Amino acid sequence: MENKIHNNLYDIAIIGAGAAGVMAALRGVLNNDNILLIEGGAKDKKKSRAQWVRKVENIPGFMSYERGVLDPNQETLDYIKNSPFKENLTHLKNTSVTDLKKADDTFLLTLDGGSSTTARARFVILATGVMDIQPEIEGTIKTIFPYANVQAVDYCVRCDGHHALGKETVVIGSDESAAWVAIMLHERYAPPHLAILTDGKKPHYSDKVAQLLELYRIEVNTKGIDGVRGNKKEGKLEGFTFCDGTIHPTDFAFVGLGMMVYNDLATKIGTQTDERGFVTTGPKGETSVQGLYVAGDLRANTKKQIYTAWDTAVDAADDINSKLRQIKRSQKLEQVVSY
Ligand SMILES: Cc1cc2nc3c(=O)[nH]c(=O)nc-3n(C[C@H](O)[C@H](O)[C@H](O)COP(=O)(O)OP(=O)(O)OC[C@H]3O[C@@H](n4cnc5c(N)ncnc54)[C@H](O)[C@@H]3O)c2cc1C
Repeated sequence: MENKIHNNLYDIAIIGAGAAGVMAALRGVLNNDNILLIEGGAKDKKKSRAQWVRKVENIPGFMSYERGVLDPNQETLDYIKNSPFKENLTHLKNTSVTDLKKADDTFLLTLDGGSSTTARARFVILATGVMDIQPEIEGTIKTIFPYANVQAVDYCVRCDGHHALGKETVVIGSDESAAWVAIMLHERYAPPHLAILTDGKKPHYSDKVAQLLELYRIEVNTKGIDGVRGNKKEGKLEGFTFCDGTIHPTDFAFVGLGMMVYNDLATKIGTQTDERGFVTTGPKGETSVQGLYVAGDLRANTKKQIYTAWDTAVDAADDINSKLRQIKRSQKLEQVVSY
């Protein structure tokens, strides 16, 4: 297997097998291109959004999946592996890409999957994603996990903001974007009580935001969370505690602390990014490095959703297919002329 990977020149190497990576693989395989899909090592997977998505309620037909990215992805990979196109896909499980270089018209990927090897591809789709920053409570980010696992704590307002309906809600975050989340939750769902819990810092809001928070009676608590109350086994959240011994009763929390952007490979190879670290691209997802595309949450100016990950992945795979066909077409035309 290692030799096969090392010796092959793949049409497209896809780095990451979350929502964008698997969609790019499906599109590439059905376009009849030769695809290498590298899903990430255990650490990459654990820190990916794909791993943490549970029930997906904002995509038609997805309500029955327990794990809204991993389950449909598995079905898709099983379909490909049993289809007439199966030879088009090499799927590297538990493998991380640790380096990405370009030499002439070829990309060279360094792989770490127990034993190290390299792979070569004409084009690359980078889909390594982002991760939401977790609040550190009692010295660890793990305190919140039992509640996040059952969605008493959520991160994505477009996916799960509606969970605030009828609930004692808090937004955890110190900057203005967390305040805008609270304003939106109030305007959409008017939860019975809504507060912002900062990480102990005093936020600096613009006049407009401060005025809206006052108008909507959204409390801003700057004491700094020091504990979580609830039933961990059942994932029932009851409230957050502060160092003065008080408790803020809560049954739903929204975390608005920003995102970590997994752009290491992109920046190493020299792509342009925006001020937050998201990779900027042309309309089809091609970066400032020719032949290198970005799909999914890593791409600048996208909605950071499963369906936008799919859309950007399809755009990238189709654009690459168009370029591959142009190369083959020119070669065929040249042959005709030289006869
Ligand atoms: C808790 C939560 C709930 C959500 N709910 C919804 C929802 O209900 N509806 C919705 O539309 N969206 C939802 N989202 C957003 C959705 O998860 C993302 O938009 C989507 O997963 C982005 O896809 P992606 O492929 O860009 O990244 P991911 O799906 O996060 O995939 C990243 C992939 O990159 C791999 N990787 C990382 N580094 C490397 C490396 N060096 N080498 C190889 N592989 C690597 C990882 O292993 C992983 O496979 C939710 C997000 C969170 C956090």
